Amino acid sequence: MKWQRKGKKVEYCIRLDDACPQMNAEKWARIERILDKYKVRPIVGVIPENRDPDFVAVADENFWEKACEWQKKGWTIALHGLHHELHFHEPRGYYQLSHSSKTEWAGKSSTEQYEMLKQGYQILKGHGLTPTCFFAPCHTYDEATVEAIASMKTEECSMYISDGYALHPYQRDGVDFLPTLFDTPHKLPLQGVYTFVYPNNMQEQDFAYLEDFLKKYASLFRSADEIMGEYSLMKEQGILGKIIEHSIYFLRGIKGSKE
Ligand SMILES: [Zn+2]
Repeated sequence: MKWQRKGKKVEYCIRLDDACPQMNAEKWARIERILDKYKVRPIVGVIPENRDPDFVAVADENFWEKACEWQKKGWTIALHGLHHELHFHEPRGYYQLSHSSKTEWAGKSSTEQYEMLKQGYQILKGHGLTPTCFFAPCHTYDEATVEAIASMKTEECSMYISDGYALHPYQRDGVDFLPTLFDTPHKLPLQGVYTFVYPNNMQEQDFAYLEDFLKKYASLFRSADEIMGEYSLMKEQGILGKIIEHSIYFLRGIKGSKE
């Protein structure tokens, strides 16, 4: 029951990261045109109050209006950190296995992270956006982040996390996860839900590749919110999901130790 998908074997989501007034608006408009053309509704990760020096374009005064238009089009709005301001940390614990040493969230107490979540959530609400999803900059979050996200439910600010490794959405530590196995779109043979991730620095060949992929497989893409609505009863990854998760952590851990 849990995994049956009404005849569909594979479903895809697309995630656009780092939306903020200082992003590369030209590249963003280009990917938006492609997604609209193929009627694909992505998850868009909005930074509530950007302070990342990597995003240096002149601030777009119409950014928040555009973000509200995305929401109206049925795009899934995600809270992407708070300031996207990164510092170095020592990755540790289950959610940090093999992950980046740069973070905005990991290592802080759950109380502090809860306050950050609330602040970020309120900033987006103030701009007319209702986030249903959260993902941390650089994929770096920890047990305290998950605990804080779980606590947000009691404030009626439920969000699932777009991260983790598995073939299907699952629940862990009281929070729903929509896994992200690959960044670049792939045709995948195993039944599952796959999220492909695009940062805001796409190159010419990336646009061509994406359009080519959508030409063939646009019908398999769905909105993350719709998918997560259907998976809300699912409580576990299943054995195959766990094997995949542990294998990826193991392989990335080896890669990480060589770097
Ligand atoms: Zn980011």
